[in-house]
Amino acid sequence: MARYTGPSCRLCRSEGMKLFIKGIRCNTEKCALARRAYSPGQHGKTKLKLSNYGLQLREKQKVKRMYGILEKQFRRYFHVASKKKGVTGESLLQQLERRLDNVVFRSGFALSLRQARQAVRHGMVYVNGKKVNIPSYPVDKEEVISIKNKENIHKYIKNNAEICKDREAPGWIIVDRDKLTAKIQRLPERSDIVLPIKEQLIVELYSK
Ligand code: SF4
Repeated sequence: MARYTGPSCRLCRSEGMKLFIKGIRCNTEKCALARRAYSPGQHGKTKLKLSNYGLQLREKQKVKRMYGILEKQFRRYFHVASKKKGVTGESLLQQLERRLDNVVFRSGFALSLRQARQAVRHGMVYVNGKKVNIPSYPVDKEEVISIKNKENIHKYIKNNAEICKDREAPGWIIVDRDKLTAKIQRLPERSDIVLPIKEQLIVELYSK
């Protein structure tokens, strides 16, 4: 699966907000946005007034970057969401939240979403006792996420969990940081997603 391999901080700077791509390291004074709060590039300091279309486009780019997804896959999520009953924008966000890499990150088993994705790809993550190495795997109700039973992997993930101990897991995931398990209590709802997202703008953009 294709992925963005360029500098993470550049993405935050072009969106003009912290996207927390580097996870825990984003809360330090080294954050590029804190030091250079303007867009990257030669004309980065020039403030442009965005059109309606521009706002919609930026919102979509922002969400893609928050979840580390490229256009093709994001469009697929939108297509599925638009076919479902209910509010399309909420359904889109629910699909993004249910991704296995996101669950590993939100459970505090990884310091960043990228690290969570790598842990999944490297076969460290199990779902209901079976290895799943697909970061986009959509978790379901009652599923239990656990970590591969290997001493060095447990030590690595436990260390992450210790660093992230102050970060609360969302209400739909029950995390046991001693056993390194996360149970999906229910599917995520809009109110569980605290990220600053205006999903309606994305729906408007794709509905044109
Ligand atoms: Fe974004 Fe700052 Fe984290 Fe870099 S350190 S990814 S600019 S939030």
